[in-house]
Amino acid sequence: MYRKITYCLQLSTSNSDEYYQTISSFAERSIELIKRSHPEIISGFCEYLHQTGLPGRSDVECAFELLALGVYLKEYREKAHRLSPWVNFLLNLLVASRIHWPKSEALSKMLSGWVNGLAWFGHGKSGKDNEILELITWLKTSGENIIAERFNKWNDYFVERNDLPAKDVLILCLDLADEFDRSSREVLGKYTENVDQFLSTAALEHRWMYDARLVYKTRLEYHLGMVGTEILNSVYRQRFLSTERKVVIVPPCMSAPDVKCKADETPFGAKCNSCSPSCRVNQITKMGKKHGFDVFMVPDDMKIFNTGGKKGTIGVVGISCALTNWNGGWETGLLDIPAQGVLLDYVGCKYHWDRAGFPTDTNLKKLRAVLAIGSKS
Ligand code: SF4
Repeated sequence: MYRKITYCLQLSTSNSDEYYQTISSFAERSIELIKRSHPEIISGFCEYLHQTGLPGRSDVECAFELLALGVYLKEYREKAHRLSPWVNFLLNLLVASRIHWPKSEALSKMLSGWVNGLAWFGHGKSGKDNEILELITWLKTSGENIIAERFNKWNDYFVERNDLPAKDVLILCLDLADEFDRSSREVLGKYTENVDQFLSTAALEHRWMYDARLVYKTRLEYHLGMVGTEILNSVYRQRFLSTERKVVIVPPCMSAPDVKCKADETPFGAKCNSCSPSCRVNQITKMGKKHGFDVFMVPDDMKIFNTGGKKGTIGVVGISCALTNWNGGWETGLLDIPAQGVLLDYVGCKYHWDRAGFPTDTNLKKLRAVLAIGSKS
């Protein structure tokens, strides 16, 4: 039995079918609104990417990026102000240590949690005119380089335009985020009602832990994540469908609760050994055998699926929580792997959300639709 810890896509029914109808129309409406309210900025950014020889992005993707920038500025610019030079130095050092000495990962993450916890008590105000740059610096201290890089392109674009002072850019982004906060709470708020309660109770235990930045995320970020997955699915859809081989990546928290998982480790992630018929991972693996796709539990590094520039070979479906799914799409996009996201209906893993942990679940009907394999398992 699951508990509603933060978000839950299953409301009165035992499935999340209603959620997928709601998010589809809300995501489209939200992005249309941004495109209509800032057409010149969106088209200007698309043109800027083209002129500077960067990979092109659709206006839908650009509008979502601008929204994400606004939300991150709204949620983190105060924290970015508090980032002192020594904390910045230490956290970057710890990020680098995890890359160069993977064996130090556990120690490095523990130390990062402490340093981040100490930084919480700092107080400061913006030392720079450009708060996007401050935000980018702050993101890099937790290794969120892919998001930082996307925002960096927007910063370069605004600087090159030369007709929008930094303070006007900030106001524009914050206005977008405020409007999205209001509209998303109205439509998606019913799925995230428990987040505030979690933040004021159980989340406090993570104050000094490495995952504090994840578990402390607000309802606004859950809503951004929900819209992000929907938008990125539409952006990568055709490329995903045209790939020769499909792989579904599932999180270990979906495996059966009462047995010790007997999955085999492989370079692509752990592969299910069918030890428990009630296990959701087992059921999805069986579906894969029938319909010709592979299923692995999250690999250490998604680069394992890099096709070395051979386009159209592998398409990935990532199943994960509403907070991490959308930026997984940016991560695989960087590797030139078209991805689709399906959300966990709720969270439950013992690493972040619940002391004992319980198995999570996803919407199999949605998974089949994403894989274009018809409605019967
Ligand atoms: S059925 Fe597969 S994924 Fe589930 S617990 Fe057994 S080996 Fe692990």
